[in-house]
Amino acid sequence: MAENQRPAKLRIAATLATPLDFAAAPEEALWDELDRLTPIFLSRWQAIRAGAVLPPPAEGLSLLELCRELAYRMLAHCNFCPWNCRVDRVAGTKLGACKLASASRVSSHFHHTGEELFYRGTEGSGTVFFTSCNMRCAFCQNGDISTDKDNGEETDPRTLAAMAWTLRREGCHNINWVGGEVIIHLHAIVDAISLLGRDFEPTRAELVRARRTKADRSFFFDEMPEEATYAGRFNAPMLWNSNFFITPESMKILRLLTDVWLPDFKFGPGRCAMTLAKTPWYWETVTRNLALIAEWGEDFTVRHLVMPNHVECCTYPVLEWIAEHVPQTPVNVMAQFHPDNFCDPGSTKYRDKYAEIARRPTHAELERSWRRARELGLKFDTTTFERRGTRAMIEM
Ligand code: SF4
Repeated sequence: MAENQRPAKLRIAATLATPLDFAAAPEEALWDELDRLTPIFLSRWQAIRAGAVLPPPAEGLSLLELCRELAYRMLAHCNFCPWNCRVDRVAGTKLGACKLASASRVSSHFHHTGEELFYRGTEGSGTVFFTSCNMRCAFCQNGDISTDKDNGEETDPRTLAAMAWTLRREGCHNINWVGGEVIIHLHAIVDAISLLGRDFEPTRAELVRARRTKADRSFFFDEMPEEATYAGRFNAPMLWNSNFFITPESMKILRLLTDVWLPDFKFGPGRCAMTLAKTPWYWETVTRNLALIAEWGEDFTVRHLVMPNHVECCTYPVLEWIAEHVPQTPVNVMAQFHPDNFCDPGSTKYRDKYAEIARRPTHAELERSWRRARELGLKFDTTTFERRGTRAMIEM
């Protein structure tokens, strides 16, 4: 798909027509229609993976626009994530846990060369960083954008689509939606994806607006439109890079648009998600969503960040759950935790109650984590050590 030998899901979703009149349909009817079209989509997706030809796009409304419509209906009683705030973010008079109304802000977008090798490739992963988050990780490694909802530029869906369109034409291997957290921007992202699946061409003004947050705009990238198309139309794998604190309803929509998943799995089943991230229902939500994408036969890699003093309570149960439930999936057991945000003793934001994680993990903690991953037979070496060389592996 990254090389356009197959169409991305957005192209397949655009081929499935729906007769529904969205303006007249209650939300329940839209969900019923999604349930009717999903198995048809999946059998078409499987057939195309096996070599079948992509049918032409639907002439009227399609599954793509149905996903878009549902995301906006949800926005009016927001249940994108398990906070289930039920606030009307379109009206914006009352805000939920993420503190967002309907506007989405982008902090930056660029060719990301720091992601795992199979996502960054040679030209980078086309990454769009959104602001704000639905979790409150005290140690957030992107605290500047996750905790500052006013960071970046307010960005409408057409400008978002222009960012993705440009990154892909500049050679990026995928479009990597990330934050902060992305699920809280579901409506804007699904809107942008539905545009990209429908012969979107940005205007000059949209390209100029998009460029304002392009972090690598001082570099020159050749535009290669022919490398961004399948059968003459825009094509790019959509990568969902997320904390996975997501409701089943949102997952149903994402299943139809996401080609590659990159979920975090941070905390064990104890109280750590509450004490470090003020997030209830964490373990049951993330494990349910991981089990879902495995059952759906999706392509994904799990990321786990080793935290100091949390190897036994978090790293071990996370790795053990993966070994028991999704043993074939690649895992990145990451070593780059550093004290940041409310855990950084050098910051005015620092809080004493986070002293236990106000340091980097020790070599011993990392080695114990990797040794456990190895004992469990996880597929983690290539993903975890590709930038570190063989030294760490030898030390084990
Ligand atoms: S995205 Fe989550 S936190 Fe934000 S309003 Fe919706 S349910 Fe609440």
